[in-house]
Amino acid sequence: MIKVDLKPANLGLSGWTAILPPRKAQPALENDIDCDYLVIGAGFAGLSAARRLLQLEASASVVILEAEEVAAGPAGRNSGFMIDLPHALASGSYGGENAQDLRNIRMNRAAIAFAADAAREYGFADEAFDLRGKINAAASAQGNRHNQAYARHLDALGEPYALLDARAMRDTCGSEYYSGGLHTPGTAVIQPSLYVRSLADALTALPRCRLYENSAVHELTRNGDRWQLRTERGSANANRVILAVNGLVESFGFYRHRLIHINLYASMTRELDATEIAQLGGVRSWGFTPSDPIGSTVRRIDGTGGTRLVIRNRCTYEPSLGLPADRLRRIARDHRRTFAARFPMLAKLPMEYCWSGRLCLSRNDVWAIGELEQGLFSACCQNGLGTTRGTISGIVAAEMASANREQSLVPDFREQAQPRRLFPEPFMTLGARGVIRLKEWRAGREL
Ligand SMILES: Cc1cc2nc3c(=O)[nH]c(=O)nc-3n(C[C@H](O)[C@H](O)[C@H](O)COP(=O)(O)OP(=O)(O)OC[C@H]3O[C@@H](n4cnc5c(N)ncnc54)[C@H](O)[C@@H]3O)c2cc1C
Repeated sequence: MIKVDLKPANLGLSGWTAILPPRKAQPALENDIDCDYLVIGAGFAGLSAARRLLQLEASASVVILEAEEVAAGPAGRNSGFMIDLPHALASGSYGGENAQDLRNIRMNRAAIAFAADAAREYGFADEAFDLRGKINAAASAQGNRHNQAYARHLDALGEPYALLDARAMRDTCGSEYYSGGLHTPGTAVIQPSLYVRSLADALTALPRCRLYENSAVHELTRNGDRWQLRTERGSANANRVILAVNGLVESFGFYRHRLIHINLYASMTRELDATEIAQLGGVRSWGFTPSDPIGSTVRRIDGTGGTRLVIRNRCTYEPSLGLPADRLRRIARDHRRTFAARFPMLAKLPMEYCWSGRLCLSRNDVWAIGELEQGLFSACCQNGLGTTRGTISGIVAAEMASANREQSLVPDFREQAQPRRLFPEPFMTLGARGVIRLKEWRAGREL
């Protein structure tokens, strides 16, 4: 029997969810049910696994169990860049080895195509999923050097891009802060909460799929060929189970001392009025990732919830998966300061929401995907780029779990090494926190 060590929720209400109209959650599991496949977690990995299972098996039933409401977790808290290109968060730049990068690009694009297909098939709103590319923004000489190195790397990979000067950046975002940018066309920009809600609701409308929200799994038991999962008020039985809980797979007892738990933070302004929109200038919506991976991600959005700016920066190592309650207050100050530096014309604009979210990395940048015990599969450890890599891991785990050996949607995926063991404590925590602080300090104006 596996007992699950349940962890506290992420801090703060995500602006992405708060600006959407209320949604009626699916009921919690309150009885004993049977199905063919159980998926634990309704983020990118879990929902993609469920969709792929339904595609692969014409008559199989799939049940998804989610601890909170859909999009309350990291899937509804991120910055919404579904990136196709190399994006190694733990490295000092986004580049890597060419052959490996080309394979990663093909896998990332398979995931984006899968998401685009779902958006088309289920009729998502345009703002939920928009394949319009992104800009790597530079605010310093060092940032420009990062972009130039990235451009050389893209040349070697044969990937298209466009370099933008300071004026083009100002014309886009209205701010003089940026000295250059690098646009790549293959990234999908999503409203993360709307995307996961739309996918969850579309799957739940299908007769063979059920979703139970507010249904944290706290126990798993194998009975012969079947698994039984218990929640507070119900239980579910299935032949096969997919754990799609990202770093929380550790709280199920797997990959202990192999996963790096990081918290990221974001803030969203209140809605801009017409005067503020005019003061800001620039185009209606845009998305900037930082040229230095530890820098700030900034978006202007214009849709449900009106025109707003969203900033993400700061990053902390949290091996216990919990956060002190006052953490958001300190981070919110950093967000206001870095926002005001970029948008002095809106320096007094209040942030309406500030939130945190967990993500999970491995030292050797590999997933935690595979069959953990007979009939129990993992689709975890997305290494930061969880919108894309979570989608890939869900597809791959579903294909591993299914009896249908139809051609893979991610043919480039290969069995991977295990996530490498962490350094012993206290060296791991001291080292990780030290490296993050050093990188943040070095990022200078990019933060
Ligand atoms: C501020 C921020 C910005 C980010 N920006 C980006 C970005 O721009 N692009 C990008 O690609 N990634 C980004 N990320 C990372 C991305 O959000 C995650 O990597 C991604 O959500 C991982 O997807 P997942 O489905 O694997 O896991 P999750 O989204 O974490 O979903 C796992 C789900 O499992 C549920 N669960 C856990 N335990 C249980 C249990 N016992 N029983 C039932 N359910 C359980 C959780 O409630 C959760 O909903 C960002 C993250 C943050 C916090």
